[in-house]
Amino acid sequence: MIYAKNYARVAVGAFLFSAASAFAAVETATYGNFEVTYYGNGDVFNSSYYVKNDSTNEKYSGAKDWTSEMKSSVERSMNYWNSVITTTAKEKVKVAFIWENLGAGTLGGATDVWYFDSASGMTLSGAEAALRGNGTSYSGYFGLSGTEKSAFVLLSKDANFYFGESESGIKSEQYDFQSVLTHEIGHIMGFNTLCTSRGWSYKWPLGTQSGKSDNVLGVTTFDSLLVTKNPSGENVEVMSQTVSSVFSNIKEYETGDSYAPGKEYFLKTGEGENGDLELSTLKIYNPETYSAGSSMGHVEYADGDGNGKDEPLMSYAIANGKIRRELNADELDLMRAMGWSVAIPEPSAFSLLAGMFTFVFVAIRRRRK
Ligand SMILES: [Zn+2]
Repeated sequence: MIYAKNYARVAVGAFLFSAASAFAAVETATYGNFEVTYYGNGDVFNSSYYVKNDSTNEKYSGAKDWTSEMKSSVERSMNYWNSVITTTAKEKVKVAFIWENLGAGTLGGATDVWYFDSASGMTLSGAEAALRGNGTSYSGYFGLSGTEKSAFVLLSKDANFYFGESESGIKSEQYDFQSVLTHEIGHIMGFNTLCTSRGWSYKWPLGTQSGKSDNVLGVTTFDSLLVTKNPSGENVEVMSQTVSSVFSNIKEYETGDSYAPGKEYFLKTGEGENGDLELSTLKIYNPETYSAGSSMGHVEYADGDGNGKDEPLMSYAIANGKIRRELNADELDLMRAMGWSVAIPEPSAFSLLAGMFTFVFVAIRRRRK
């Protein structure tokens, strides 16, 4: 069973660069490249990019407080990502963490602020833009603002989370909080898509320059690596890079592929000397029934049941019990393909728990529509 939740819309654009309002101080902590803000009970998340919670029509506000144990779990997850990504950071990634009522089965969700990068034609997540210092080159149009968050992560206030450090302490009915956090940050770091049930249709309005304007397709770095099969069964890239017909200095992407739920998609990790596409063994999660926030932004399980040692961090669900996930070798390769400098962290101990598992949908990515 899949639980989907359609979060509030993301509004992004220079016209929304309003001055930050004065709000009661929330706790902020810096862990390497990440500046984390903890929204505790009643703390209202205010952002010029994010509007309201669709289900309640209210601004997101912390539904419970953060204990030192919870924050330690966040710190470990952020430090895991600091150990993996060795790209020299231009700016810190500012992430808000908010306890929310996400409904049964949903453990967490991540939302990005998006930036258009005219040099590549790709739409960058807030983390990509901040760490790489890109996405600011087009008339400052989607430049980072000093106080805005790069992304925010919603966490289920009612889920039975395990907050401890030792994986061996996870009880059979608990979900590992650290794994959920690491997964959500994985979305922020690039496992994200602008594909909707209709395919890629979001257009960036590039505004007017010397009386001219253009709209370019929103394509994430992840999207730019997608490969599918043509009717002859050959691997073909979904996206192709081109140049704006209006602005010769602006790259953009176009797709000749008509998206369909259930269609097979893979990701390109490189090209061979003869031009053959090298593909990741990971298959994109794209079920026959489209699931908003889930389809196309996750990968499939490796072995079908999700409880194996090498299950991907970025599969769409996590089982309860003694399961702690980190990026597997294939996912590390994908991070490299997405342009990150990647260190291979020490493998951590992993234990298996035999028996039946209940799967819940691990995380829903909200995207703008
Ligand atoms: Zn997810």
